[in-house]
Amino acid sequence: GGDAHPTAGQPLLRIEGIAKTFGTFRAVDGVSLDIKAGEFFALLGPSGCGKTTLLRMLAGFEAPDEGRILLGGKDIAQALPHERPINMMFQNYALFPHLSVRDNIAFGLKRAGMARADIATRVAEMVALVKLEGLEKRKPDQLSGGQRQRVALARALARRPQLLLLDEPLAALDKKLRESTQGELMELQRRLGMTFIIVTHDQEEAMTMASRIGVMKAGKLAQVAAPRALYETPRSRWIAEFVGDVNLFEGEFKLRDGHHLVIATREAGTLVTAEPREPVGETALSVAIRPEKVKLSRRGPVSEVGRETAINSLEGVIADICYLGGTTTYKVKLDAGGMVQASVVNSARIETDAYSVNQNVVAWFTPDDCVVLPP
Ligand code: ATP
Repeated sequence: GGDAHPTAGQPLLRIEGIAKTFGTFRAVDGVSLDIKAGEFFALLGPSGCGKTTLLRMLAGFEAPDEGRILLGGKDIAQALPHERPINMMFQNYALFPHLSVRDNIAFGLKRAGMARADIATRVAEMVALVKLEGLEKRKPDQLSGGQRQRVALARALARRPQLLLLDEPLAALDKKLRESTQGELMELQRRLGMTFIIVTHDQEEAMTMASRIGVMKAGKLAQVAAPRALYETPRSRWIAEFVGDVNLFEGEFKLRDGHHLVIATREAGTLVTAEPREPVGETALSVAIRPEKVKLSRRGPVSEVGRETAINSLEGVIADICYLGGTTTYKVKLDAGGMVQASVVNSARIETDAYSVNQNVVAWFTPDDCVVLPP
């Protein structure tokens, strides 16, 4: 069912302190979360962190031991899967091998007792939506991986659920197809104005598609934020490392002047950072700098060209170069002992910008480029 769709931006789903224990293992350990209608939300986390279990509780395949699940204000925690206006698309697609594309898509509609003529109309609509015209009579084993993925999507969308749950929907596709399908999925979600919750362990995929990301670690939500906020202001070292590449330096608080902190690090010397928005203690602290924030200059007098400041200028030697097409990653072995990675955009001026292994350089960044994190 679920034909009455809530307006975009209205609260749709409220999860209150849900938990699930298998034996003595708490797979989901007290998760609370609000999802608005029309959101594309990604649950991101390493293997085994409880993403799928959380999704299965929303779909009704698993009963929570604790907590409530409210959809449109109604507690659905005890409702059976087919009684919920929620549908789930499984990681392995779970298509019926003996049924055609058309019958796979029609399956849930038949079971819901929809009239034959309406089913035919709806299936045709879904086939067009996911661009499977002409393949209606094929069986799953006569389809490519990408086509199977579309059948599963069409089947999951056929009953027009208020909420669609997608468990690693693109995991089985190769990189190129995955990237184009990401775009199609986003387009589809926007066009239908539906609410999607997607599970993925691929941070790039979550960043690309989702309007908000919930990072899960060991059964708990470690941070919920928009992709940019997650990347630029991670709340912990673990999140900073899990989402994207990062240079991390451990150190000790030295002083603060209201705008800046001075932190003595073991591997990069003394660093000056902006005072973080969330207050930190005058204790052991870590400093995180994204590789694309790190600039390189030649050492010596020439290095002053384009170098705005002597603050956070780390002397070192190029240890490794990794050319990635659009960017090049330089690993710099610092005189202070540590390593720092700089990701540099390859411009047309590559010849004058390029560095070679063993070259002396200065790696530098501004106080605002630094994120201060608790120990
Ligand atoms: P992945 O990305 O590998 O699919 P996940 O984050 O989706 O991982 P879950 O499938 O939710 O993780 O599993 C979380 C933990 O709960 C895992 O350690 C798993 O072994 C355990 N678990 C899941 N289902 C059961 C079950 N039915 N019985 C016992 N343990 C389970």
